[in-house]
Amino acid sequence: MATKLAEVDAVLVGVGLVGTMLGRELTRAGLKVVGLERGRPQFTVPDFQGPQMHDELRYSVRKGLMQDNTKEAVTFRNRADQVALPIRRWESFLPGTGLGGAAVHWNGQTYRFQDSDFRMRSLTTERYGARFADPGLTIQDWGVTAADMEPHYDRFEYLLGVSGLAGNIGGKKIAGGNPFEDARRRGYPTPPMKEPYGSALFRKAAAQQGYHPFPQPSSNLSQPYTNPEGMQLSTCMFCGYCERYACEHYAKSSPQTILLPVLLKDPHFTLRTQAQVLRINLSKDKRQATGVTYVDAAGREFEQPAKLVVLGSFALNNVRMLLLSGIGTPYDPRSGQGTVGRNYAYQTMSSVQVFFDEKTNINPFMRSGACGTVIADFVGDNFDHGPHKFIGGAYVGEVMTNGRPIEFHPTPPGTPSWGGKWKSAVVRHYNHTSVLNVHGSSMAHRANYLDLDPTYKDAWGLPLLRMTFDFPANDLRMSAYVTGKAVEIGRAMGARQVNGAGRKGPYTVTQYQTTHNTGGTVMGADRSTSVVNCYLQSWDVSNLFVIGASNFPQNASYNPTDTVGALAYMAAEAIVQRYLKSPGPMVQA
Ligand SMILES: Cc1cc2nc3c(=O)[nH]c(=O)nc-3n(C[C@H](O)[C@H](O)[C@H](O)COP(=O)(O)OP(=O)(O)OC[C@H]3O[C@@H](n4cnc5c(N)ncnc54)[C@H](O)[C@@H]3O)c2cc1C
Ligand code: SF4
Repeated sequence: MATKLAEVDAVLVGVGLVGTMLGRELTRAGLKVVGLERGRPQFTVPDFQGPQMHDELRYSVRKGLMQDNTKEAVTFRNRADQVALPIRRWESFLPGTGLGGAAVHWNGQTYRFQDSDFRMRSLTTERYGARFADPGLTIQDWGVTAADMEPHYDRFEYLLGVSGLAGNIGGKKIAGGNPFEDARRRGYPTPPMKEPYGSALFRKAAAQQGYHPFPQPSSNLSQPYTNPEGMQLSTCMFCGYCERYACEHYAKSSPQTILLPVLLKDPHFTLRTQAQVLRINLSKDKRQATGVTYVDAAGREFEQPAKLVVLGSFALNNVRMLLLSGIGTPYDPRSGQGTVGRNYAYQTMSSVQVFFDEKTNINPFMRSGACGTVIADFVGDNFDHGPHKFIGGAYVGEVMTNGRPIEFHPTPPGTPSWGGKWKSAVVRHYNHTSVLNVHGSSMAHRANYLDLDPTYKDAWGLPLLRMTFDFPANDLRMSAYVTGKAVEIGRAMGARQVNGAGRKGPYTVTQYQTTHNTGGTVMGADRSTSVVNCYLQSWDVSNLFVIGASNFPQNASYNPTDTVGALAYMAAEAIVQRYLKSPGPMVQA
């Protein structure tokens, strides 16, 4: 029997990036807010300090900061006619847990999506015709444009302190920046990071081939910065323990470094950690949320009533929470009807290894999560897809994130995978190899979706999330094409040997690709193909806002978090300026 607590104005499910941002915006507006986070409390001091934070076995191999999948896993299959099995070791993607969420152990690669991403269905049809995209693809427009998103991107990037070089300020192109970006109102808050040697070789080779290299926008900071919340960040040390690790130097933007300390001081905010939310509770007519039910670390069950519920529990968990709570209509791939779980997408990744002679010293160890140089010439719709049989694209860059001893030991094809010859090859190539990333879009397809598993349950007896996913043929064609271009750049970098091929199917969960899981609670202007409206308000339950990469109708070439943060600010503004003044649906269905 759950203990019923006193009602609050708003409850946050998850206190990661989205939860922290919404907590700050709602308490600032005078609301009494409770934040429920399933993981532990954790802070830069004492939890993220060296030397323990540089324990590769604990954090990279045993995934010390990730969701505990002995309690809560995801089941997986490639196709609906297969039996899904639980993922027992996170490899392909790494959902976070604990205060701050995955934004503690992210890399910090911080890109805006383009207008052609937000209006993908209409602009693809306009430019190439209605029959150009493969018929199984369920791509759609977001219901917002890049111009709508610009003020929210701007605000979020200044919160993070992003280091970069703008390519287009108010329509004026800036040399050395990304010439394909949509107009932004001002430059990045801090200058770009220092360019590592491998990235410099990439820049030269890419420019010689007529492409437009620019520094990757980074939330590992190039210099000290004080954000508008008064939080002070330091300069990145290129420590090499960034992705999968928390930053001990206050140099990576994360909830802990940009906002949480301010939120925690606010008397209107109450944080409860190790609070596992089981479901969102509904009124009898199922049109209003009445609060949430959660279990604490001692196994006690509580009901937290609230006037407003904000679900910001990471893309995959957002979808599962709606399904567990009976909110919305689950997607049925046979009929194509239903929206919750529909349009699950991912990211189509490949890489190219560039092997140099022994005079070329790459120094892979001294890298950060987001330093490097990239090109956007093959991103989204920045090139003519007419001659190709695919939509979407990828950015290409020399964006190596580490040379850590357990994970990084590149050897050319044909090298034995163990023994003396392998060891000699690792010694020969460790300091003389560069890796190019091809970071590609992922189109929604009617066969890819999320639902509840009929067999496997979590530690609280609730069905696990079931993922049905394989790469659409469109995306494999895209990957082959852009990876071919990356191989050409690798050769032009002066390498002795270049090795790389496009992503091949079937999708496997046993190999790290990215934690850029998207879709399942898609936003849009039409409720028959979306779960939330353009303010991220549930079509079915008007006092519920669902926020995260689960809102993306399909995934773009770039990393998602700049867009997640911008969406969070956009939704917060709508809640504070419109919803609270007149609670109810903000868009009529
Ligand atoms: C290794 C790695 C590298 C990444 N690198 C990049 C990058 O370079 N660039 C980029 O753009 N993105 C990157 N990302 C993605 C980025 O971390 C996410 O986009 C971002 O953290 C999403 O924010 P969120 O608030 O939606 O989720 P999170 O930050 O994960 O927060 C969700 C929170 O909800 C909590 N929660 C979940 N379920 C419950 C429940 N039932 N009850 C209570 N609490 C719950 C979780 O514990 C978590 O704390 C990376 C991710 C990983 C894992
Ligand atoms: S690489 Fe830089 S930002 Fe990343 S953890 Fe190390 S010091 Fe922090």
